[in-house]
Amino acid sequence: MQNFVYNSQPGRVLFGTGTLHQLPQEVERLGLQSVLILSTPHQEEQVSSLAALIGSKSAGIFAGATMHTPVSVTERALEIVSERKVDGLIALGGGSTTGLGKAIALRTDLPQIVIPTTYAGSEMTPILGETTDGRKITQSSPKVLPEVVIYDVDLTVTLPVSLSVSSGINAIAHAVEALYARDRNPIISIIAEAGIRSLFRALPAIAQDPSSRNGRSAALYGAWLCGVCLGSVGMALHHKICHVLGGAFGLSHAETHVAILPHALRFNETAAPEALTTLREAVGHQDPARALFDLGRSLGAKMALKDFGMPAEGVDRAVDLTLETPYWNPRPLEREGLRQLVSNAYEGNVP
Ligand code: NAD
Repeated sequence: MQNFVYNSQPGRVLFGTGTLHQLPQEVERLGLQSVLILSTPHQEEQVSSLAALIGSKSAGIFAGATMHTPVSVTERALEIVSERKVDGLIALGGGSTTGLGKAIALRTDLPQIVIPTTYAGSEMTPILGETTDGRKITQSSPKVLPEVVIYDVDLTVTLPVSLSVSSGINAIAHAVEALYARDRNPIISIIAEAGIRSLFRALPAIAQDPSSRNGRSAALYGAWLCGVCLGSVGMALHHKICHVLGGAFGLSHAETHVAILPHALRFNETAAPEALTTLREAVGHQDPARALFDLGRSLGAKMALKDFGMPAEGVDRAVDLTLETPYWNPRPLEREGLRQLVSNAYEGNVP
């Protein structure tokens, strides 16, 4: 076994069904007296029951969370934090709401209780991406890690199937790249394999019956594990291309991951034989790139970038941008191979 470094993230996790009811005890445990509850406008109604649950400890709701964590929204929330002498945060929602909580915590060091309702996995990472004037800046700081994460399967049942599929495959992508990361380690590889295995089986069950408790539970568990991978080791070409496409063409974050992943994996597989063996086992002894493509396609995801807003001339621009500031990748990047990869994803070809 090679030498390795393993950083475990601090934090406490409650996982299960009905775990939300433990929220008052968690607020008590952290000694909080005035807690601001965060959500998107879409989930405001859902969080009003949280306010009731913690009673006098609630400092109210800020339902302004939105995609890409705009600093202007964070500043509005910070005004409330100071007006109401807030001493803790509860963020209920997906990556957008978690992002707002992290942005406030970065500036105030307030303790956070995060209650994830998608499979994005942001609650397990020290990463925060914020936007000012349309520019996204990503940083990593242990200050943004939540003190407590409450996974309650019940809250994920309302996540629409299409979002569940894209968010779930987005999570799988974190674990796939963790398996061939430059700083990979045996602990994270075990977590990555278990995360992929769990989500790969859960997503078809959810598509068949969105209220399936077994499917929802396995997906949320898998998302947790995949989030740990994203928070622990470096990502490679797949994530780089997705960031380029999101930034340059405004493509939807999770959907882009679904379309790129099979092709990025096909590109990298010869340079990552150990990862490929692990992946093959995780997806039921099939060709992993093909299995991930079939998973998305069979569950109704759009597999062609051209079907969700990528312009044809964008292929070359995406290749240029990827090569301009590349991430480390197991297979060295060359223009022709990269162009083929992006162009296959653009067309939605079978990998
Ligand atoms: P999201 O948080 O933007 O949520 C999408 C929509 O679904 C919102 O309207 C939300 O209110 C709604 N929703 C969430 N859960 C629901 C539920 N259970 N039922 C019904 N509706 C629900 O989407 P996301 O994919 O979770 O997060 C994407 C964002 O997170 C991106 O900005 C991405 O960059 C960021 N992200 C960050 C990290 C990190 O480590 N920093 C990791 C992953 C994602």
